[in-house]
Amino acid sequence: MLSAERELRLQNDIHDYLEVRDSIKTGLERQEEIAKNRDRILAFFGADLKDWYDYRWQLKHRITDAETLSKLMPLSKKQAAEIDEVGLKYRYAISPYYLSLIDSNNPECPVARQSIPMIDELDSAGETDPMDEENSSPVPGVTRRYPDRLIIKVTNQCGMYCRFCQRRRLIGEQDVHSNSEKIKKAIEYVRDHEEIRDVLITGGDAFMLSDQAIDNLLADLRSIKHVEIIRFGTRTPVTLPQRITPELVSILKKYHPVYVNTHFNSPAEISDESKAACERLADAGIPLGNQMVLLNGVNNKPHIVKKLNQSLLSIRVKPYYIFHPKAIRGTSHFWCSIEEGLDVMESLRGYTSGMAIPTYIVNGTGGLGKTPLLPNYLLYIGRDKAVFRNWEGQIFEIENRNRSKQP
Ligand SMILES: *Cc1c(COP(=O)(O)O)cnc(C)c1O
Ligand code: SF4
Repeated sequence: MLSAERELRLQNDIHDYLEVRDSIKTGLERQEEIAKNRDRILAFFGADLKDWYDYRWQLKHRITDAETLSKLMPLSKKQAAEIDEVGLKYRYAISPYYLSLIDSNNPECPVARQSIPMIDELDSAGETDPMDEENSSPVPGVTRRYPDRLIIKVTNQCGMYCRFCQRRRLIGEQDVHSNSEKIKKAIEYVRDHEEIRDVLITGGDAFMLSDQAIDNLLADLRSIKHVEIIRFGTRTPVTLPQRITPELVSILKKYHPVYVNTHFNSPAEISDESKAACERLADAGIPLGNQMVLLNGVNNKPHIVKKLNQSLLSIRVKPYYIFHPKAIRGTSHFWCSIEEGLDVMESLRGYTSGMAIPTYIVNGTGGLGKTPLLPNYLLYIGRDKAVFRNWEGQIFEIENRNRSKQP
């Protein structure tokens, strides 16, 4: 039986989270305000709901200058001037949909922080290209760092330009899809290497390709016997959920097993529309994973990540990775310490569903690959025993013996 004392302790373990849970709002809890923002944006563009649900309309009407932005949300003169100043160096683009998620009453809105340029971007700390992709690229457009899987980059376009992105878009940089010749060579590389059983299609954003291009690519990959699974990396369910059309979904499901990994960073990004997009994918039998980036001022707090991950499971997305932010120039205001990441991990294990616990990853500099990090639960390991602490800090030990090797 669960003792009354133990029950009390369990309730106490969750008490601090329950105190703040309802103050960390998902978009689902702000749906009326979001709809109002949407109607205001539509009125500004003289458009209607049919346009809103058309991702081509969303892409075409991305906001890329402070003047337009200031007509759609309250911006101080200083803020507008700073946006213009940053805009001379780094490009920015916000889809009308993503803009509608911004809470203008919250000066620390996590959606605004991810999408609206800030003067901090001009800080010179960090490196311009620590990704070191050249050394891991056997043919153009392919990144291979692991024995049995690789990445094909099919485009460098995205639904929007996230402010924390490791691929900072410089002014003058062209956004293009890889040409079909390049993609063909990448597919040939996979065909020639029998050990590749898992192919990740990314960019940029893989779903910026046309339906036809995605269909062709999948047909080519599926003609290779040793390709077991195909994965897409896309942020469109978050920034441009209208892209997840029934047509796209019906193409994807012809080529199962197909997985989609997306990229929610904040509970505020979970809206009716992003939920519907995830459900369309899940209903087609596509398992969904989430790759969050730990970002100062967005999600570097245990309770926020807990709410995010629980809400993701509710919309059928499994938290897969938390990435430690890379030291990219122009993103220093988003950097976090390793301790903050470990605190997040510590606050999850035991306290919430194991399903809501992703792996925390530091990317090895110089292309050394994903390196997992956990709080330390193993306190001592010796010839006969190992000593641990559990999630609540209680100590226990187990024998550390392999009986088969006993004399
Ligand atoms: C992240 C990554 C992968 C996929 O890694 P998983 O841990 O299998 O999700 C594959 N190739 C490269 C180059 C990567 O950076
Ligand atoms: S969608 Fe992904 S790749 Fe594109 S700008 Fe955002 S974080 Fe960067």
